[in-house]
Formats: sequence, structure tokens, C-alpha cells
Amino acid sequence: MPVLVNFKICDNSRDCSGIEACPTGAFYWDEDNKTIAVDDSKCSACGGCEKSCPVGAIRVAKNSKEYSRIKKEIDADTRKVSDLFIDRYGAEPKDPAFLISQDKFDIQILESVKMSVVELFDNDSIMCLLYSIPISVLFEGMDIKYRKIRMKDDSLLGRYDVGKLPCLLFFRDGKIVGKIEGYFGIEKKKEILSKVTEIIS
Ligand code: SF4
Repeated sequence: MPVLVNFKICDNSRDCSGIEACPTGAFYWDEDNKTIAVDDSKCSACGGCEKSCPVGAIRVAKNSKEYSRIKKEIDADTRKVSDLFIDRYGAEPKDPAFLISQDKFDIQILESVKMSVVELFDNDSIMCLLYSIPISVLFEGMDIKYRKIRMKDDSLLGRYDVGKLPCLLFFRDGKIVGKIEGYFGIEKKKEILSKVTEIIS
């Protein structure tokens, strides 16, 4: 049985890309049990289903040793499907309440009575959804106003000398007090958290 599906991060859909990618019909939608399933007798271990999954939920083991290793990894995975779709730094927001248009920047950010952080972004890639820092972790317990703006033109970038997106700009009383540029994946969590703390304190 070479194929393992990590159902912790799989949305178990009949439209699963693995079904389309499978050349033998081994990877299929089981209508009776309402789940994706694999028919081992038809599987050639080609790896097509693994490559097709945008969130890495499908894994194909080459041998029993690899199968046990992947199974252990999946058992230890603490992520949930919802973790893939919460608001993350550099990614399209899940909740449109965070999203403002560029022309609302002055009133929402510069005229805010609270310390404000605005995230300028233009990237809604699946990599950002999967591996960026969740916003809830980044600003946990901090009394700030947080908004996101998808870049339509370069006006804000020029105004605040931004060279790289995504970018966090920090404002107090209408004045910029900090800037963090570039993408930070989950492996750089400590680094970005210490930058945020330094700016806010
Ligand atoms: S490894 Fe290949 S044959 Fe097996 S289920 Fe995946 S796509 Fe189908």
C-alpha cells in the first residue's frame, strides 16, 4: 500500500486533483463512503497523485521502510485543514474584514488612534498559505490595528521606500515607526517575532 493520504490537511473532495492525475484509476472517489480512496491492486506507485496535491497531503512510499516513516510523520502532524486557510503573512486574507483598498490607507492607517500595522502584499500563492506565519501568532496579545492591502500600483511602495513584498509597515500617530520587508516562512518565525516585538515595544 504505497499511497498515504494525510486527512488532517486534506479537504477530502470529490474534485481531488489526485483523481485526475492517476493514470490507472487507483486513486478514486468512493461515493458510498464519501471519501477519496486508493485501490492498491491498480496502483503503480508512479507518484502522479503526490505531485498533483497542492498542499502535500498525498504521499507515495517507495518501500515499507519509507511507508513507516511517512506514516509516523503524518501521525505526528499537528496541522488541521483550517490551519491552511487562516490569515497568513503574505497571503490573501481569509476574512475580507482585514482587507482594505489602497485609497483607504490614510484614513484607516495614518489617522488611526491605535498603533497600526499594514501588510502590503501581492502574492496569494499556496506556499504563503502553507508556510507563512499565521497573523494570530505574529501579533498575539498586542493591542494593534492590523490591515492588509493588495498592491494595485507603486504609490505606497515609493512613499515608504519598500523594495520587497510582502511588507509590514508599522505606524504610530500617523508616523512610520518600523518596516519589515520580504517573505518569512514558518522556519523564520523566531526572527520575525523578535523584529515585531522590537518595533512594537
Ligand atoms: S501513485 Fe500513481 S497509480 Fe498510484 S494512486 Fe497515485 S497516481 Fe495512481
